[in-house]
Amino acid sequence: MRRLLLTACTGLLLAVACTHDKAASSAVSASAADLSPEATGRGGAAASVDVRATAAAIGILESGGNAVDAAVAAAGVLGVTDPYSCGIGGGGFMLIYLADEQRVVSVEHREVAPQGLHRELFYEGAAPIPMPEVLTSGLSAGVPGMARGWEVALERYGTRGLADVLQPAIRVAEQGFEIDAFFHEQTARNVDRFKLFTSTASLFLPGGEPMPVGARFANPELAKTYRLVAREGSRAFYQGEIARAIVDTLARPPVAPDAPRKVRSGVMTLSDLADYDVRIREPVKSTYRGYTVYGMGAPSSGGLAVGLTLNLLEGYEPAAMSRVDFLHRYLEASRLAFADRTAFVADPEYVDVPVAGLLSKEYAAERRKAIDPARAAAGAVLAGNPFAYQQDPSTTRSAAASLSAAGLAALPPSVLDVPNRETTHITTSDKAGNIVSYTCTIEFEGGNGIVVPGYGFLLNNELTDFDVPPSPVTPHANSPEPGKRPRSSMSPTLVFKEGAPVFALGSPGGSTIITTVLQTLVNHVDLGMPLLESVAAPRVSQRNTPDGKSQAEPEFLSSREAAALMEKGHVFADVGPIGAFTGIRFNPDGTVTAVAEPKRRGGGSAMVVERAGR
Ligand code: GLU
Repeated sequence: MRRLLLTACTGLLLAVACTHDKAASSAVSASAADLSPEATGRGGAAASVDVRATAAAIGILESGGNAVDAAVAAAGVLGVTDPYSCGIGGGGFMLIYLADEQRVVSVEHREVAPQGLHRELFYEGAAPIPMPEVLTSGLSAGVPGMARGWEVALERYGTRGLADVLQPAIRVAEQGFEIDAFFHEQTARNVDRFKLFTSTASLFLPGGEPMPVGARFANPELAKTYRLVAREGSRAFYQGEIARAIVDTLARPPVAPDAPRKVRSGVMTLSDLADYDVRIREPVKSTYRGYTVYGMGAPSSGGLAVGLTLNLLEGYEPAAMSRVDFLHRYLEASRLAFADRTAFVADPEYVDVPVAGLLSKEYAAERRKAIDPARAAAGAVLAGNPFAYQQDPSTTRSAAASLSAAGLAALPPSVLDVPNRETTHITTSDKAGNIVSYTCTIEFEGGNGIVVPGYGFLLNNELTDFDVPPSPVTPHANSPEPGKRPRSSMSPTLVFKEGAPVFALGSPGGSTIITTVLQTLVNHVDLGMPLLESVAAPRVSQRNTPDGKSQAEPEFLSSREAAALMEKGHVFADVGPIGAFTGIRFNPDGTVTAVAEPKRRGGGSAMVVERAGR
């Protein structure tokens, strides 16, 4: 995204670099020469969807900051330049490798349902409120996690404070940036939603229309918000004037006088904001063909779904079969893993998630028997019983686990789950060997559509990640409840071999995040593609939707493999581009290769502090 004209870029990067005195000026030269989806070198690396965010991270690394400082700096900038995907009104999952301690930790800063959020609020009479109405409303906003997540990540694992790492974002917000085709398209797709709110229209639709490509977009109100957080810490967000503004905005959305429809208000209170806190969670750990794979645990389903799919695939030898036969097994394994993920993964503070069972090799061996080597399953498959494979015999079956698997499989797919519209992934590493794999979001493209008046940021609609079954009395592990975190698919991932990091990766894209991470890993590890080729390869995503179809990119659909898979009963739906990956490869010679999406979403930006061979 945002591949800028060199002149404009240099100006912007100067703005970024100036905030970090001399050390950050290296970001200018590195960046100007380096508008590239791949960079190899030493001293630290960064990859994101946006050149300014990547440059901010590199500036921090050059001035002595670590990978956590760099990741937060990049996320702050993305809140300005990629405001429809992420920002301080949302939340995220940060996976961190601490090189000194040789351990992986995670800072979960997922949004939380307000205490007044009862599932009945999502129904009118006995029927769920139509999703488009929930999507653009105060009701769908969870308590944002970003500000506290950044603060805790920096305090525990960083070397800088918010006052320092938010400076690049403040500069970009003040000075503005040139709108590119992707930003323009995103705005244009949301005109009807954004026009509903006076604050959103005045920020993103000046003159009533999306700003043209090449126009300069600044957001001084967001700069003010960041300055408040930089000065006072996350308290300013959760207890100060910003908290009051959020509560007012959700209680009385700033609906335009001529709005063609009503907008439901939310129930978030000042206490909900004041009580917000992050969770430091154990990552989930699985193994695959000699690699150790760390992922995000519940409330994200990412790490568990990736781990289970890989365990299923481990039973097959890619070299012993055709690529089509391997792809067939990949799709069927993903279908089975999604059945389990949908049935059993939710906020672990509300349900027993059978983590050990889902990741047990014995469970995978049993579950693998459901894969027909010759034929794709027709329609959705049922969840298995990972509870029978829990190592801890005291774990009881939760209410969710006792649900009828048939009922779960029959739930309609979420109309909101559109790939490649939302979310962003940042990957950073530093010269000490620390690594960050960080996915953050405001959920749908443009979140709930409501800019907090005077503060320049969109609120999330993350509560649409809850499952709202057809009837308010149908139990579901991931149903809305007060204080609960909705299940996510975000899959920041770190892969090691013999204790040493091999790669770090992640992607946006709703629940296709899981399959993008999987497919990239499989392309790289099993099919032997270099990392960038693995990323660029056409994508296909099987998520056990009731229609049984796999979603695929047009280039995949026109491939020979797709034709051969159709003969095995696979049915595909064209969904356009899927995902916008970023990652870092740790090479045997001690260099690192940062990789960003080469084409999707306009292409991303990968940089290193010191290029190899210079
Ligand atoms: N809300 C989604 C999740 O947590 C991420 C947003 C998206 O990419 O759809 O999984």
